[in-house]
Amino acid sequence: MKIKKLPDEFEKARPVMQTIEKAGYEAYFVGGSVRDTIIGEPIHDVDIASSAYPEEIKKLFKNTIDTGIEHGTVMVLDNNVGYEITTFRTESGYQDYRRPDKVTFVRSLEEDLKRRDFTINALAMRENGEVTDLFGGIDDLNHNIIRAVGDPNERFNEDALRMMRAVRFASKLDFNIEDDTFNAIKRHSKLLEKIAIERIYVEFIKMMKGLKPRQGLLDIINTNMYLYIPYFNHHHDDILSISNLKNLDLTSEVSIWSLICFAFKYNRLQIGEFLKAWKSSNEVINDTKICCSAIYKIYSKTINDISIYNTGKSLLIIANHIASLYGFDLNENDLINEYDNLPIKNKKELSINGGILIKNDILKPGPKLGEILNVIEKKVVNGRLENDTNELINFTKQYLKE
Ligand code: ATP
Ligand code: MG
Repeated sequence: MKIKKLPDEFEKARPVMQTIEKAGYEAYFVGGSVRDTIIGEPIHDVDIASSAYPEEIKKLFKNTIDTGIEHGTVMVLDNNVGYEITTFRTESGYQDYRRPDKVTFVRSLEEDLKRRDFTINALAMRENGEVTDLFGGIDDLNHNIIRAVGDPNERFNEDALRMMRAVRFASKLDFNIEDDTFNAIKRHSKLLEKIAIERIYVEFIKMMKGLKPRQGLLDIINTNMYLYIPYFNHHHDDILSISNLKNLDLTSEVSIWSLICFAFKYNRLQIGEFLKAWKSSNEVINDTKICCSAIYKIYSKTINDISIYNTGKSLLIIANHIASLYGFDLNENDLINEYDNLPIKNKKELSINGGILIKNDILKPGPKLGEILNVIEKKVVNGRLENDTNELINFTKQYLKE
């Protein structure tokens, strides 16, 4: 197969490839970018594999950075673009079911492609568009199939993360996992316990953002991987219930976690425990708590100006989207209008602050100050007080008398 019209990203990289080839080495585009080009998807990162060793690459180019020299990766800077060039390599060992104990540089493309996870990810393309396909990757792309390169049992035993990657690519591309590959995942699902949660996290989020997250969740259940994913083992039926919802269309991490926490009927405390087990960032944990409480408020029809203010616009839209999956959403435009019409959007927009109250000798620094500012904030949001410095000073004086 030869690709005639290469995407711009490849065109720009051609001179780099040509320099390597002219010096007598091989150079290929590899991995996701080749796959995505063949199926007509936009590409993001251009990975290059070469028979040249890192030191040999460094001799060929003026500007290089050692980004991962011990794994054989050197970055070449060309016209302000960085290209990661990795020496063909084989891997062996895998005693921790994840990282190879030993990486060996080799001169053979075939050896390098053999260690890759799936046939559709084991394609290589020369700078002139000529594709090398040693494992039937193009055929699998044409038939929408995720198939391990070589013996799937061996491959998942080497690196258990590949099992999550299979589910991720199946959802991302709307492909099916081939039977032997699927059965091997089922057989080795327990090995997922050996994988750092951070790695599972990345694949899980990509899966949920893919074309078929509902199928991805079913795959996680049907392969039994759910038994080895934090807290999922307690929620078999809840996960199934998510997989029955239509048009998930989840575009952010917070929307994904909020849907899951809502489906799991978690309260704030449980959301915290759950997402800590997943090692989510504090920002994601907080936003998910806020978003879920907005979903509950939309559900119980108790959402008001204060909760709209506390939620903020973007989380409000996410909360209402999740509500829409269950059919209890509110009119999105009404909600956005209500938010846009709030007198203030955050505390900083109050026409008064601690400094003003202290300067006017109304209050001294201390807990009372914080308390009264909170009262004022609420009343301004509710429309009970105008956001006007004099009015707020008068209110404070009155409040202190009572
Ligand atoms: P995308 O970047 O679009 O998510 P990708 O295919 O580029 O997809 P990466 O995780 O960036 O995926 O990996 C790049 C390539 O490296 C893959 O296409 C595959 O050939 C190889 N690869 C990555 N991870 C593994 C793994 N765990 N086992 C075997 N090969 C892998
Ligand atoms: Mg990639």
